Amino acid sequence: MSFFDKMKKGVSDAGSKAKTLVEVNKFRLNIQSLEAEIQDRYKRIGQSVFQSTSDELGAEPAIDQKEKVVVLTLCQEIRARQQEIVELNKKILELNNQKSCDKCGRLNQTEVRFCSDCGHEFIQVVTIDVVAAQTATESDVISCWKCHEPLGQSVRFCGKCGTARP
Ligand SMILES: [Zn+2]
Ligand SMILES: [Zn+2]
Repeated sequence: MSFFDKMKKGVSDAGSKAKTLVEVNKFRLNIQSLEAEIQDRYKRIGQSVFQSTSDELGAEPAIDQKEKVVVLTLCQEIRARQQEIVELNKKILELNNQKSCDKCGRLNQTEVRFCSDCGHEFIQVVTIDVVAAQTATESDVISCWKCHEPLGQSVRFCGKCGTARP
């Protein structure tokens, strides 16, 4: 690769990284507004329950049917937003070329097949992003005791072949 090509590549890498940052920030803002909407609904549920109680000591809240429907709808709206937040967090991880293990929650690089902490196999194999692979932050690298794949110092399972550390 010529010096000029290298320079061009460097510029486009920086460009795609900046784009990723913009996307991640957009998702983070989405999450923030969803969280605000959730807080708002918690407040409305609380007000509704409060208004249905009287000053009488030990009196049960007297929520009528209409009120109950309102509260249940608010609960559903909260659950829908929580689900959306989960999805957005997944997208943020994908943009950072990471995925979390379904079993133990550990963050792994998207290209690995097996979790580096518990050895759980990821069903979907995502194509390797060369730029992300080059900028992997793992400083100390060891190689797999079986297939010799380069691995981070702290892994307990090889991400490529799934063999446990001896
Ligand atoms: Zn795991
Ligand atoms: Zn291996």
